[in-house]
Amino acid sequence: MNIVIFGPPGAGKGTQSNFIVKKYNLYQVSTGELLRREILNKSALGQKIETIINSGNLVSDQIVSDLIEKYISNKIYKNRLIFDGYPRNLIQVKNLDNLLKKYEQKINLVLKLSVSLETIKKRIIERQLLEKRADDKESIAVKRYQMYEKNIEPVIEYYKQSNLLTVVNGEKTIGEISDEISGLIESIKG
Ligand code: AMP
Repeated sequence: MNIVIFGPPGAGKGTQSNFIVKKYNLYQVSTGELLRREILNKSALGQKIETIINSGNLVSDQIVSDLIEKYISNKIYKNRLIFDGYPRNLIQVKNLDNLLKKYEQKINLVLKLSVSLETIKKRIIERQLLEKRADDKESIAVKRYQMYEKNIEPVIEYYKQSNLLTVVNGEKTIGEISDEISGLIESIKG
């Protein structure tokens, strides 16, 4: 089973991805992580990526596609992938479909963790209290949330039309969300 997971920063995507990976023995492909690893390699490609990311832009669809092909083509990960941070636009949606077809796989489930801006703000304030510091993290987080939701909207719409999308209520507790996701995965595994 291959899964795609979406959610704005602060939605608990990382926590839930880790849970799914462990429980169902999947492998997480996070494009942000792959890109950061490439930068650490100090290759020519890594240096190019570093410049792009540091300027706040998205890396080209081709670079990201080449990086994830290494995982999709690897028999060890066949039908065991959970994509995080990918696809980010409609070209990447097509690229992912084509790559999966090429290696005789498909997406079985698309999850969108949905949380309101109010909840994101509350979570940030709670975290700040724990860390005992007050800064302008809130306004940055609000911007990131709004950007994320706006940019990902056509991608989400595409998966909705394809009947692959399930929206999970990210307002619930970590345990409740994990249970809901488990139920979805079990029902697909049959
Ligand atoms: P993230 O860790 O997902 O926030 O990604 C960090 C940075 O990596 C982003 O700001 C982008 O510059 C780049 N990046 C991650 N995923 C993608 C993607 N699917 N397409 C293009 N750029 C990406």
